[in-house]
Amino acid sequence: MAVNLLDFDAAGLAARFVEWGEKPFRARQVLRWMHRSGQDDFGAMTDIAGSLREKLGAEAEIKPPAIVSDRFSDDGARKFLFDVGGGNAVESVFIPEDERGTLCVSTQAGCALDCAFCSTGRQGFNRNLSVAEIIGQLWQVKRVLGACSGDERMISNVVLMGMGEPLANFDHLVAALRLMLDDNAYGLSRRRVTVSTAGLAPMIDRLRDECPVALAVSLHAPDDALRDRLVPINRKYPLRELIAACRRYLEKAPRDFVTFAYVMLDGVNDSEDHARRLLRLTSGIPCKFNLIPFNPFPASSFRRSPPARVRNFAEILASAGIVATTRKTRGQDIDAACGQLAGRVRDRSRCSRQAAMSVREMRLP
Ligand code: SAH
Repeated sequence: MAVNLLDFDAAGLAARFVEWGEKPFRARQVLRWMHRSGQDDFGAMTDIAGSLREKLGAEAEIKPPAIVSDRFSDDGARKFLFDVGGGNAVESVFIPEDERGTLCVSTQAGCALDCAFCSTGRQGFNRNLSVAEIIGQLWQVKRVLGACSGDERMISNVVLMGMGEPLANFDHLVAALRLMLDDNAYGLSRRRVTVSTAGLAPMIDRLRDECPVALAVSLHAPDDALRDRLVPINRKYPLRELIAACRRYLEKAPRDFVTFAYVMLDGVNDSEDHARRLLRLTSGIPCKFNLIPFNPFPASSFRRSPPARVRNFAEILASAGIVATTRKTRGQDIDAACGQLAGRVRDRSRCSRQAAMSVREMRLP
């Protein structure tokens, strides 16, 4: 089977070229063609010897996931649906702003964490995306935007905040991040690439050691009792451990603060008391808060907090010197807002839960 060269970061590609008996600098040339020029045809890589082009054509391929739909929101956000095979599809969202363009990328088909307010979690989990499937979203969108506007540099920021938990797909995430940062690929600065996590504390340490980028932590509650309910992974890594990992992360982080995301759920986590307890929880950690208005999806049981309550909440944080921004909801008309990405997932986790249940039932006397 052909090797997909989008599955390799720079070091991995160089190692593969050496295995093929080629010089490592050839790998760098191919990397530049693939990621900087968006080239998927070895025949067009004109500064590469004909014999190597032929060999690559026979043994390798450059294969991003195919775009199966591309929808525009009235507010300019643009949602892409990618086929990742086996009945699964994942989504990316491009959010243009005056000074920057942000691409929100998925890392898993579905998600196993099952946060109470998230539509991706509702579908269950199918599998981790490969490196080619993660970086392939950026590869494809950059190419589409370049063709539309002639400006391939429209993607200035990448956020790993689409479907899935990035830190649960650690090795593939890190290879994809390295490509985003590599000057021979996308050349983004570490400060402009953000990994968002629901709080896999030990993996926050690994990210710090292996590929520190900007970090967002989805906090959503000031105490373990409430967070256990909203973000079930908290039962495994409670707030004390999570906050300690954030503190350690800052020792090597490219930004000198952690962003705490906080989805505002009417009557659940949005009182003045919650805000004051958040201040106590995070005291001593350089941080910013990003308050996210809850985005509803079919069968969701939560409601969005009223705007006045969100403002009040932000003011309490601000009065303690914490910058608290309220995320502007973008792309809601095309189900592209935070927490609405559903893609299409064959839920293996649910199938296996059902299978486990039916086995138990069969054993009943
Ligand atoms: N698993 C990672 C990244 C994906 S979720 C994480 O949890 O951070 C990206 C962000 O969207 C998270 O902050 C998440 O809590 C938030 N989110 C999920 N569902 C939402 C919803 N229905 N409305 C608003 N934000 C939501």
